[in-house]
Amino acid sequence: MRMGAHVDQEDPIAEARARGAVLSQFFLGDPQAWKGPKVAYPGGAEALRADAEAAGVALYVHAPYVLNLASTNNRIRIPSRQHLQKQLTAAAEIGAAGLIVHGGHVLATDDAAVGFDNWRKAIDGLSIDVPLLIENTAGGANAMARHLDRLAQLWDAISHSPNADKVGFCLDTCHAHAGGMELLGLVDRVRAITGRIDLVHANDSRDAFDSGADRHTNFGQGFCDPEGVAEVVATAGAPVVVETPGGVEGQRADLDWLASVAGSRD
Ligand SMILES: [Zn+2]
Repeated sequence: MRMGAHVDQEDPIAEARARGAVLSQFFLGDPQAWKGPKVAYPGGAEALRADAEAAGVALYVHAPYVLNLASTNNRIRIPSRQHLQKQLTAAAEIGAAGLIVHGGHVLATDDAAVGFDNWRKAIDGLSIDVPLLIENTAGGANAMARHLDRLAQLWDAISHSPNADKVGFCLDTCHAHAGGMELLGLVDRVRAITGRIDLVHANDSRDAFDSGADRHTNFGQGFCDPEGVAEVVATAGAPVVVETPGGVEGQRADLDWLASVAGSRD
């Protein structure tokens, strides 16, 4: 099983090695700002691409949290599209295996259908050279990818785009649990909708089922059903990223636990 962690962006190759991992996920710049992307690796994008390839480390980029492709507010939606394109271009330059972006949301008073259509229009207009992986989110009353019924509507909207085959899905176990989706059986239920799971974010949750809170923690310290996490990781058939605290030691322990419950670790 191919596993790794969300790490500091300066040297994702060294971070992977320190965890005994074959992949790394990181941000290109500040995840909370409308800036960037910026490659922090010494030597820049080309060096990162070449060095990662030589080291056999796959790279995943997580888009900034501020992007909301579904938004009905022009002043958020339009810069979100522009920044997503920049992130995709930069991810392609470093040879990334995928770019992960959250499903986003519309306002409580908005019609969710407008949000799904905004996603479809965004996908239509992007030039996509690395897989764009939409991730389920934990919170929000009017989220695009918190519950399965919404995921089905989102996927239906996207399927009408000529770029649909370049869009995949990232399943986060903390977000699923906190968002109110049972982990046991979830892989099958998601695949019935999306036809694919391209990446798993394996995290425990500091909060209760359906709390709507997005706070990750290390395995065994949260409220996620451990059997559910193990089943997701074992059956998704996708690479796994832990986005948990504790740095090298904390994440190594999480990766070891996943390997012990869900099969061997590369
Ligand atoms: Zn995640």
